[in-house]
Amino acid sequence: MVLEVKNITKRFGGITALKNISFTIQQGEIYGLIGPNGAGKTTMFNCITNIVEPTEGEIFFNGEKITKLKPYKITEKGICRTYQNIRLFPQMTALQNVMVGGHSRISAGVFRSVIRTKSQKQEEKLLKEKSEELLELVGLGQLKDQFAENLAYGQQRRLEIARALASNPTLLLLDEPAAGMNETETDNLFDLIKKIQSMGITVLIIEHDMSLVMRLCDRITVLNFGEKLAEGTPDEIQNNEAVIEAYLGKE
Ligand code: ATP
Repeated sequence: MVLEVKNITKRFGGITALKNISFTIQQGEIYGLIGPNGAGKTTMFNCITNIVEPTEGEIFFNGEKITKLKPYKITEKGICRTYQNIRLFPQMTALQNVMVGGHSRISAGVFRSVIRTKSQKQEEKLLKEKSEELLELVGLGQLKDQFAENLAYGQQRRLEIARALASNPTLLLLDEPAAGMNETETDNLFDLIKKIQSMGITVLIIEHDMSLVMRLCDRITVLNFGEKLAEGTPDEIQNNEAVIEAYLGKE
């Protein structure tokens, strides 16, 4: 088991954003987190990465408790994420944006053995090559020298994924990666996430595009007003009366 979320509750003052939520993710799965606006999905990502500290409960990554670790330590362990709102450096090139993600990997120590044996120049060259490979992977190889702000919206979203991958995650958290994408961009995103899965990276995805979620995910948890409404395969979720009533029926 890669991730175990155990009885997580998060309260913000009088608001209970998550109520006693538990689920587990297996190695190599694409796992979906869905539910209406305000259901608590992003708060769950924030708890996993400890950007907000859970009020109650524990989270384990590869069997190790990560609940109280600093966010950068959690990155070091191998969990990386993208955000609902794009967070690129607009006046840096696509390549530079990815290299920034790689630098966090160096500072996280994943490259420590390389740092010991290679000069800073060699290290930078290695990082550049790796970043170029990642840009090819997400279909932006030709655009590596473009400023991030000049890329189309769907391209910026894929650049964010490349930057997250530069930190060498074994678990990638994607927060609404298809938001604002047209059909072709969403199809490309589907292919990209499948490719990421085939590289042995486990994926946890928040997404409102139900056609994408149902095609992509192995298993899904549905949140509603901070509570877990259902968990199951896409088939089970699509046929679950409570889910249809609370969420799917209103799409
Ligand atoms: P969406 O699909 O709209 O992104 P979501 O399912 O990701 O929604 P969250 O953003 O996790 O929902 O919000 C869950 C609840 O927690 C909401 O009522 C929200 O207002 C509240 N909330 C989230 N973060 C904070 C915060 N930092 N302070 C106070 N309340 C918060």
